[in-house]
Amino acid sequence: MSITEKIKRKLSRFEISTKITFGYAACFIALLILINAAMWFGVMNALYRPAENTIIYSISQIENVLEELEENYEDFKPGTFRGALVTGVVLRVVDKDGVVFIDTDKKYPSLERFEENILDAPPIFSRDDFKIAQIRNALIYRAEVEYVHEGEVFKLYFFRTITSELKLFEELERILVALDILGVIIAMFVGRYLSKRILNPIQTMNELAREIAFEKMGGRIPVENANDELGELAKTLNKMLDRLQGGINKQQKFVSDASHELRTPAAVIKGYIEFIEHYGTEDKELLEENLKMIGSEAQNMQALLENLLFISRTDQNRQKLNKKALDLDDIIGDVMQKMKVAIKTHEVELTSNEPAKIFGDEITIRQMIRIFLDNAVKYTPAGGSIKVGSKVDGNKILVSISDSGIGIAPENLDKIFDRFFRVGSEQLVSEANGSGLGLSIAKWIADAHKIKISVASELGKGTTFTLTIPINSQ
Ligand code: ADP
Repeated sequence: MSITEKIKRKLSRFEISTKITFGYAACFIALLILINAAMWFGVMNALYRPAENTIIYSISQIENVLEELEENYEDFKPGTFRGALVTGVVLRVVDKDGVVFIDTDKKYPSLERFEENILDAPPIFSRDDFKIAQIRNALIYRAEVEYVHEGEVFKLYFFRTITSELKLFEELERILVALDILGVIIAMFVGRYLSKRILNPIQTMNELAREIAFEKMGGRIPVENANDELGELAKTLNKMLDRLQGGINKQQKFVSDASHELRTPAAVIKGYIEFIEHYGTEDKELLEENLKMIGSEAQNMQALLENLLFISRTDQNRQKLNKKALDLDDIIGDVMQKMKVAIKTHEVELTSNEPAKIFGDEITIRQMIRIFLDNAVKYTPAGGSIKVGSKVDGNKILVSISDSGIGIAPENLDKIFDRFFRVGSEQLVSEANGSGLGLSIAKWIADAHKIKISVASELGKGTTFTLTIPINSQ
């Protein structure tokens, strides 16, 4: 495992606030280092280097003086040189025998004393061509230049005490280090405080989320500042809870509606059985009639259960569709033929059935057409007519199922596809019995095949459902 991975692993164990605190402190330290470096170089260039440069400058001045003095050996005296030296710089000239014969400051420590006290480790930033000695508290810098006059070699020593500049420089270093430590401590505290403050709402969210349960979905996360990211998160979570609650409510309603629907046929069957028990089986005619009713209720119950199972499969994304190229005209022709045989109470007519290929699952497509046809029969009094027509329109097929039945009130048109929705029974034709699931199933099948359903209806006159089905392009 690489070091970065190890660090990441270690960091992942810390809480977010600690990570923010460390991150913040790290940035702050980096910034401090940058500022310190800038100040260090600034002070070095503004104070320390100029002090060193006074020596360099004095050397060049003295070299000029020496050039001018070339022939006048007798002018080699301290007074001649003093004026050329920058204040603070001391000059000593030594002849070939090591005798000092020019000294611009007699009180300055002697050459021997300087030699004895030369530092083995001079400050790293000082120039290499300088020798530095520490005498008492003072740091003395020395530069050396050779001068040859009439074959004789003289040594010129330039001295300068750079103690105050250096002290200031070192003092500054100490102050910077102290400030850095203080800064880091403050950064840690401020970082900790800020991160805690920022993360506080998350804590609240966490506590609330822990309280929310299936039976206790009412709670919502307080939105403190709607415009910041945490406010956004709170709003998103609240919306998610709204959706979940909506889903749960729907589910609970579905279970209660389904149980309610199943209770009715069960109660009816129980009633017929009690009737038989009470009146006995002597009367064959009555018995047969009752058994017929029981059979019919059981059939209703079975149909209802089939529908409930279908819906539960679609809710769980378990409803299988085996889509392939289909001849819609064949399906419509077949369904209508069976319908004509089964329905004698109504006039059933196939007005047109243009050849058309679609891409879909045959079983559910048939189921969907049957739902519309069954409804047309259920909601059209005996003697009424049911017409089916299928026409190709561009790359679509329009299938219409019309009846001359009771119609649907305009205010109910957008509700008929809801689960368990049924128009009040007083408006229904007597034999109509349904559970209000048919159209919601038809809608699911239509959506799964990108089929559009439109309804036109007038109360007392009849209803037309039109299915717009895409033609199979493959
Ligand atoms: P149901 O099992 O009650 O028929 P559906 O979901 O198939 O349930 O239909 C929902 C409601 O829409 C029906 O109860 C009925 O009121 C209305 N409806 C559906 N088709 C027709 C139609 N062809 N004519 C009149 N009303 C209809």
